Amino acid sequence: MSSRPKVMAVHSLLLEEYGHHEWRPHRDATSELVRTMLSQNTSDVNSNRAFARLQERFPTWRELLQGDVEDIVEAIEPGGLGRIKAPRIKSALQAILEERGEVDLDFLKDIELDEAKAWLISLEGVGPKTAACVLLFSLGRPVLPVDTHVLRVSQRLGLVAPRASAEKAHEILGDTLPGEAIYDFHVNTVTHGRRVCHARRPQCDSCNLVPLCDYAHKGR
Ligand code: SF4
Repeated sequence: MSSRPKVMAVHSLLLEEYGHHEWRPHRDATSELVRTMLSQNTSDVNSNRAFARLQERFPTWRELLQGDVEDIVEAIEPGGLGRIKAPRIKSALQAILEERGEVDLDFLKDIELDEAKAWLISLEGVGPKTAACVLLFSLGRPVLPVDTHVLRVSQRLGLVAPRASAEKAHEILGDTLPGEAIYDFHVNTVTHGRRVCHARRPQCDSCNLVPLCDYAHKGR
């Protein structure tokens, strides 16, 4: 099966299994950016704690911008890599302020998608996945975040090459899926990766994607 029909067949089976999800903004785009930067190389539990502490220490982004980097490092300590993340977060917020005159990323809703992606990726510490999280989760724009679950499931199914990078998978799947399918595909693939297609022991015997899966047919 060529790649687009296969991606769409997988999408249909995931919809049958996990349903359709109404998009609602997770949080404002600036908060999503900071939250996602904090989530790099750590668990959700740790990054949630770091984000909560950051908001407690700096109730507004303007206060953070006026704050000392050392105080940011201390606030985000539970998330790890604070010495790298703190200056990056501060400089990202500074770049937003300089661009817009306020710390608000809503302008990314109204510009060309490629331009919005490029603007975010120009910030230090922001890669395609972080940019995609901001654009999809907060602004409802059709960009696919490829996290560890989306990458693993897509590789095993053969939607992308077995050793494809997250960037390559982002490019291939993003170009293949229609915009209206992207949010459901993301949510359902992550759910499938968490519940069935586990990293160590995928539960192929109880997976409805077996007929389409390269790993199930030749990888075991
Ligand atoms: S058949 Fe197995 S490897 Fe393929 S998607 Fe399902 S659980 Fe993952």
